[in-house]
Amino acid sequence: MSNHGPVHLEGFPASDGIALGRVRRVDWRVPEAPRVTVRRRDRHRELERFQEALRRARTELEEIKRRTEALLGPVEARIFDPQILMLEDPEVVEGTNRYISDNRVTAARAFEWRMLELSELWARTSHTMVLDRLNDLHDVKLRVLGRLLGLPSPWDIGRASDAVIVARELTPSIVARMDPERVRGLATDGGSRAAHWAILARSMQIPAVVGLGEVFDRAREGQRIIVDGRSGQVLIEPGGRDAQRFERRRNRISGWTRRPLTGAEGENGAVTLDDVPVTLRANLDLPGEAGRARELGAQGVGLFRTEFLAVGRHAVPGEEEQYRAYRTVAGTFPSDPVLIRIFDLGGDKFPLFLRMPAEGNPFLGRRGVRVCRDEPGLFLTQLRAILRATVHGDVRIMVPLVNTTGEIAAFRELLDAAKEQLQREGVPFRDDVKVGAMIETPGAALAAAELAAASDFLSIGTNDLVQYALAVDRTNTGLAHLFDPFHPAVPRLVSLVAGAGRSAGIEVSACGELAARPAGALLLMGLGVEALSVAWPSLPEITNLIRGCRMRDVREAAATARAAPGGTDVRRAVEGLLAGPPDPGLSSQPAE
Ligand code: PEP
Ligand code: MG
Repeated sequence: MSNHGPVHLEGFPASDGIALGRVRRVDWRVPEAPRVTVRRRDRHRELERFQEALRRARTELEEIKRRTEALLGPVEARIFDPQILMLEDPEVVEGTNRYISDNRVTAARAFEWRMLELSELWARTSHTMVLDRLNDLHDVKLRVLGRLLGLPSPWDIGRASDAVIVARELTPSIVARMDPERVRGLATDGGSRAAHWAILARSMQIPAVVGLGEVFDRAREGQRIIVDGRSGQVLIEPGGRDAQRFERRRNRISGWTRRPLTGAEGENGAVTLDDVPVTLRANLDLPGEAGRARELGAQGVGLFRTEFLAVGRHAVPGEEEQYRAYRTVAGTFPSDPVLIRIFDLGGDKFPLFLRMPAEGNPFLGRRGVRVCRDEPGLFLTQLRAILRATVHGDVRIMVPLVNTTGEIAAFRELLDAAKEQLQREGVPFRDDVKVGAMIETPGAALAAAELAAASDFLSIGTNDLVQYALAVDRTNTGLAHLFDPFHPAVPRLVSLVAGAGRSAGIEVSACGELAARPAGALLLMGLGVEALSVAWPSLPEITNLIRGCRMRDVREAAATARAAPGGTDVRRAVEGLLAGPPDPGLSSQPAE
């Protein structure tokens, strides 16, 4: 397909930052093993070749794990554990050996069959989370088959210094080998923000957009490309004006990032021109990110996602390991709130150790707080670890996907059980730890007054709130254009929650991606949300945004937005406040 003029694609932001570079297409499709029959007396040679390929793959993966640990830390390095375990999984190894022995096929063909069988089995019988497991399986398959067939490394991505990798999908091994000095950005047809490779990209600070659907077919090798990992937009062969606007935006952001936000200026936090302070906290996916968030001026952590401890693991994470992770973050912010969210499992995040039956609609199924009822032991351990961390700072507990006060009451009972255990054991913790509900459904927003009465704080998860308010699956790449956080339903629901919090005298914060978009941050502030929590790389941009506006104007604009008839009008109401040329991150107009 030839492209005339710029191509504009919308996907999902997966790793923050703006990249301008040249397309480098990476096609890593797993090769097909030739059909060759093996003589009976050669079977042993094939069995031995398979063992040698497994040993070799293990050595390579352990080396990648070591390198990743040295570069990014031990938590990130564990991303490779599922693959290493797969190499000794009897389902993989014995299954392949059986095919070699019984069917007289080569090791490559036997392994290919077995992996195909397993991927079909897993795809049929499991949760969406299995996607990540399948991605690991493809990574392993590519590595072992490549060895058995004597193919060159598919991970070689050339030496260009401004490469933007465009692929159907990526894998942890491919991303781990990238040099962030040379690879500017990533753009993929598939993938999700929760994919292991996307977590690695975030740690390596390589901007990424996933779920673009057709970027691999639309992009040609060497074309100019822009990847905006903040808004989820990708432009191929952008026009001069678009390129300049993105470049200006990137330079502005990197200027703010370089300027220190700590010291006197940082302590003042984010205050508007008319002297209204807005609390700005960081969203963290991994404990190692806490230090950087602090350097960038975060006034605490508004969302510490703890799923990294559970997802992709074969065993339940222990109390000690969890405690160490929570203590690291609490210790980095000893005098600011640190909101630790309990495992938000279900939907697209399911750990391997929870063998739960498949559901027709995982996002409407056992998810968030609902999982506490099924797995009290898992959460009791987590609550013990969080309670132990409360002595290191102002640690608060956040409960996802709450709809009813009954769910909060049941959660508090579980928390009391954890407290009793620690008390009996003489382990110190803060008894007055705050418990907050995440408002992520229209039902919860409409019942915000009741939920506020039962909570110590509320936090609006705009990603899910938009998904459930508009009935648009947030992971469905074909519906990205319908996932519109500026739909009029959103400001109206947010306004209800902010009002309920104000009446109850408790804090209302927002921690979804909307808070990190300039127009979104203004909208939330203007609607009465007191604290914003954004992905840590967005802190400088949002700090500057707050410092450059007057709260009086922001409230006025938000009032207009709340009464606006359509998404375009909502956006327009707040975009008018943004200084300078229109933000390219906001120039697209999703369908209404
Ligand atoms: C949200 O839903 O907005 C949120 C912050 O939680 P997550 O994205 O982890 O579901
Ligand atoms: Mg959520």
